This record gives sequence, structure tokens and C-alpha cells, in this order.
Amino acid sequence: MPISEFSLIDRYLAAQGLQRADVALGIGDDCALLLPPADQQLVVTLDTLVADVHFFADADPESIGHKALAVNLSDLAAMGATPAWATLALTLPKADEEWLARFCRGLFALADRYDVQLVGGDTTHGPTTVITLQAHGFVPPGQALRRDGARPGDEIYVTGTPGDAGLALAAAYGKTTVGAAYHAYARARLERPEPRIAQGVALRGIASAAIDISDGLAQDLCHILERSGGGALLEVEGLPLSSALTASLDRDAAIITALTSGDDYELCFTVPPERTAQLEALAADWDCCCTRIGIVAAEPGLRLIRADGSAFHLERLGYDHFG
Ligand code: ADP
Ligand code: MG
Repeated sequence: MPISEFSLIDRYLAAQGLQRADVALGIGDDCALLLPPADQQLVVTLDTLVADVHFFADADPESIGHKALAVNLSDLAAMGATPAWATLALTLPKADEEWLARFCRGLFALADRYDVQLVGGDTTHGPTTVITLQAHGFVPPGQALRRDGARPGDEIYVTGTPGDAGLALAAAYGKTTVGAAYHAYARARLERPEPRIAQGVALRGIASAAIDISDGLAQDLCHILERSGGGALLEVEGLPLSSALTASLDRDAAIITALTSGDDYELCFTVPPERTAQLEALAADWDCCCTRIGIVAAEPGLRLIRADGSAFHLERLGYDHFG
């Protein structure tokens, strides 16, 4: 007899173990009962992963579980929020216990690391796997990092090395070959992104605007510019590129990948010049690099230049589901 929906929930989804003090009632009733701190704003975000759109249906379920939470924690990081709770809507084509056990292992390993408790959700049958996860976090009032605070003269920074996930995707589609030494690295960057939570929290009071990069650095930076007004000047030869990227692609292709490929889940943010020294002192202790890549300009538009000042041309800005 196939396992019932309720046994699946009890056996796997309700088995995290972590018990936060601000969860009065978790999985098992009609709703969860939660105790948000009175002195903080509640920060809420939701992302959906669809099989064969956002992940390969035969991908490692642990990685899918990790990524479903990681992409949401990345949004919280981009707001400077501290994560707390998650809810999960799962649509599955079959009750595959082995798949669900491994999915939960990946999900809970990351959740435990960031003290995130899964407090509820919904489980349904459907033609293809769809995973919708909502994450909740807190930020002190007025301290959230928003997209609309960048001003001309602010310096633009990025964490980590954008383009690595795009490299892994290009390799998976047979568009490029990645040497054995770099293949596992690129795959891990695609399948196991590390949400930049500590960086986001540290940027409170320092960054004037922030976004996490899900659809390509150039496009996501443009979202900051649209919200803030103004434009930007980016020095493309100063972009932080991983050895995996530069060893696999020629220089210009590596730059284009770093600027336009999605799934990086790094933070792109702006800092007023009077606070850049403070930022750089903080970033020295981070477990990822943090690189100044350009400057916010008063004139609208994204201008890309090489080190010698000549223009760098991009065909398209980034990923668009409907583009
Ligand atoms: P209801 O029918 O009242 O909405 P369900 O039978 O769907 O309740 O769910 C029972 C309990 O299991 C609820 O507490 C719900 O939040 C939880 N739950 C169901 N599916 C999931 C899931 N995918 N992840 C986490 N919790 C879940
Ligand atoms: Mg109910």
C-alpha cells in the first residue's frame, strides 16, 4: 500500500528536531502559532522551484532540499534579515519516500545551520514536482536593506564570484566543457548556494541598497538602479571571477557569464563613500570575497567599460522566465 500523505508528513517533514522558543505550535495542527519579537519587523519571502525549470528532475534530492531553502534565505540576506521560520508547499508526482527522506536531509541540514524551523506547509499530488518555500525573518525597524536607497557616488560591491552557477549550467547543457578540477566546484555553486546571511546582517547601517543575484548580476543591479533612480558605471575587467570560470572560458565569455548568468545567490550592494572603509574592515573577516565593481552614477543606464575605458558590449542583461 502506498504511504499516505499524513504518514509522509509525520515521518519526514515533521522530523526536523529543531525547536525554536518563538514557535508555540509547529507542524501538526491547522496552523502554526508563532511569536514574532515585538520590537522587530517581520520579513517574508517566497520562492518556487519547478522540476526541469529550476532543477533537473533527476538531480540529487538533498541538493534540491538545500536549494529550496537557500534561495529564500538569500532573499532574507538581501534585506539584512535574520531567518527564523519556513513553510513549505510540496507538489509531488508520487509518494517517493526515498526522495522525500533525502530532500528533507538537505533542507534540514541547512535549516539547522541557520536556526530555521519548518513550521507548516501543504503536501499535494500533481503532474510534476513543484516546491514552494516561504521563509520568515526579522529585522529592526528602519534597518532593512532595500533596493531604493542607492545614490550617485555610492560604490557598488558584490560578494563571492558570480558566474560559477552559470558555468555549471552551461556545462550541463553541453555548451562548454569544464575541467575535472573545477567541475565539482561549479556544480556545488549551482546546487548548494550558500545564503549570505551573515553578510546581509553586517550590512545593516552600511549598505544604502542591496539585492541578491538570482537572474544575473547586470539585471539585478539594474533592479537597484530602477528603484533608486540613476545609473551605474561598471569596470568589467575588475569583476571577481573564479579560477573555474577563467580556466573554462575565454576572458570576455567569462565576463559575460559573470554579468548575465543566473543562480549566483550572491549579494550586490551599494555603499556611500563615507562608509566604504567601515565595510572593507568588516568584509576582511567574511568567509567569501567582497569586491568593489563600480560606482552609482546620476545618468540613467548601465555603462560597462574595460580597464582602458573602452565600452564593453552585452547582448542581453540576464535571465527572464518570459523573455
Ligand atoms: P490542513 O488540511 O488543515 O491544511 P494538512 O493535513 O494539509 O492540514 O497538514 C497537516 C499538518 O502538516 C499541518 O500542520 C501542515 O502545516 C503540515 N504540513 C503539511 N504539508 C507540509 C509540508 N510539505 N511541509 C511542512 N509541513 C506540512
Ligand atoms: Mg485544516
